[in-house]
Amino acid sequence: MKSIDKQELINLNYRKQFAIEPTKNYIDGTWVTSSVINKNINPSDTSDIVASFYEATKEDVNISIEAAVNIQDEWAKSSIALREKILNEIGDKLLSNKDYYGEIISREAGKPLKEATDEVVKSADFFFYFAAEAIRSRGTYMDSPRQNVDIEVIKEPVGVVALITPWNYPLAIPAWKIAPALAFGNSIVFKPSNTTPTIAYILAKIIDSTELPKGVFNLVIGQGSVIGETITSSKHIDALSFTGSVDVGKSIARDSIKNMIKLQLEMGSKNSLIVLDDANVDEAVSAAIKGSYNATGQKCTSSSKLIVTQGIYEEFLTKMKEEMKKLVIGNSLDKDTQIGPAISKKQLKQNVSYIELGKKEGATLVCGGEVLKRDTDGYYFSPALFTDGKSKMRLNQEEIFGPIACIIKVKDYEEALAVLNDTEFGLSGGIMTKDLTKAMDFKHNAKVGNIMINLPTAGMDNHVPFGGRKSSSFGSREKSFSASDFYTTTKTAYIKY
Ligand code: NAD
Repeated sequence: MKSIDKQELINLNYRKQFAIEPTKNYIDGTWVTSSVINKNINPSDTSDIVASFYEATKEDVNISIEAAVNIQDEWAKSSIALREKILNEIGDKLLSNKDYYGEIISREAGKPLKEATDEVVKSADFFFYFAAEAIRSRGTYMDSPRQNVDIEVIKEPVGVVALITPWNYPLAIPAWKIAPALAFGNSIVFKPSNTTPTIAYILAKIIDSTELPKGVFNLVIGQGSVIGETITSSKHIDALSFTGSVDVGKSIARDSIKNMIKLQLEMGSKNSLIVLDDANVDEAVSAAIKGSYNATGQKCTSSSKLIVTQGIYEEFLTKMKEEMKKLVIGNSLDKDTQIGPAISKKQLKQNVSYIELGKKEGATLVCGGEVLKRDTDGYYFSPALFTDGKSKMRLNQEEIFGPIACIIKVKDYEEALAVLNDTEFGLSGGIMTKDLTKAMDFKHNAKVGNIMINLPTAGMDNHVPFGGRKSSSFGSREKSFSASDFYTTTKTAYIKY
């Protein structure tokens, strides 16, 4: 492994000691500490403490909710020009320090530096996009069958929204929820993952530096098992948007539905890439490598089932093995690193246990699957490839959230599609083929929310709807014009004159 450039290490050591103060909660415009302080560890280098952070208490959560409730009516009436200005300012401030924020994400999420910096740019884009959405007219005028009656369909803020986010896109996912929430006049209680609190704190600092009225945006950092229920069972929350695992999503749904609030849940998945005989094999291998192993396989849209028809199987497998040997696995801050570490010891153990399970179920491990040592102590693991996979194996049914893929050999397109749809999930699915008829059939018959034709299953654009089907999603789509479905509520006004 190439070591980190010496000057960069010096800079990093400097930052380790001085740059990040303990992160606090942001409640009703005030920075709040608590008696519980925890440490945020870099998964590429467990000796690197990215920051200490104060965990919010249940009482802090209740105070945040109260602050959001108290300001909601005033914020709902705020000028759309003010909202536009604030959102643009947040985007500008993110961009103005993107390299440093990228480094923070890289350290706390173990994401290769370039991907982490790209995430900052992507996040800024969400603020710019929703700045423009804030000033777009959304109401509709309609005629009535009655004489001298007009009808207006008005979009109003939904109210106080709770936003609960995972660690794997620690800035982009909060951005694609916070930006539309503010654009459409809602107040916010935001609970990020406490695996990645530092970038959430930085975002809160940026928001605090704008003209946003106190109480509109509140940050509470803490474990879901400790403060989660205080949020999800609150009678004062009007809507809740969650991104995370299926089990947590289901438990949130059970809590929240008691208060009949609006819910949006984006959860895990098990995504497949189909490779047909007529595909360009180099492009198919590239899509499989990117889709399965980028971000250490820790994307909800990663492909972990590679469904390959028999005519191209041998060539595809040979080239996959060749390309996998070239992957550089290492410290996320090393410029040459393509695959960073697992996010935690627990995730590393889970990767290892799925390797054991795959072998037990009769799949053949042909590449990787080993815990690795690097210059710094971290949770390194070599991307793994299985063959001889069968659709019903747990290996091919459960979300692993690691760099582990399994090839399932099939006879033709019809069998490939059946295997792709044989899952409780439905977030993303891809096909590599030059056959237009099969590609079109796939577009219509794959039971997923995102279709990728001749592209990896991961890698979505900002300005279009995002979400899945079956156990992967519940509620309306995120991002784009669709975001207003969740962050507004519709009122129909009849006016006689
Ligand atoms: P997670 O479910 O463990 O945690 C997500 C968030 O929920 C965290 O903020 C956590 O603290 C909070 N939480 C946990 N228990 C809670 C409770 N009882 N009440 C309220 N909040 C609670 O997920 P994770 O490990 O952070 O992220 C990985 C998962 O997220 C994967 O399953 C991945 O597929 C999914 N994900 C989905 C999408 C998508 O858009 N579909 C995007 C990214 C990640």
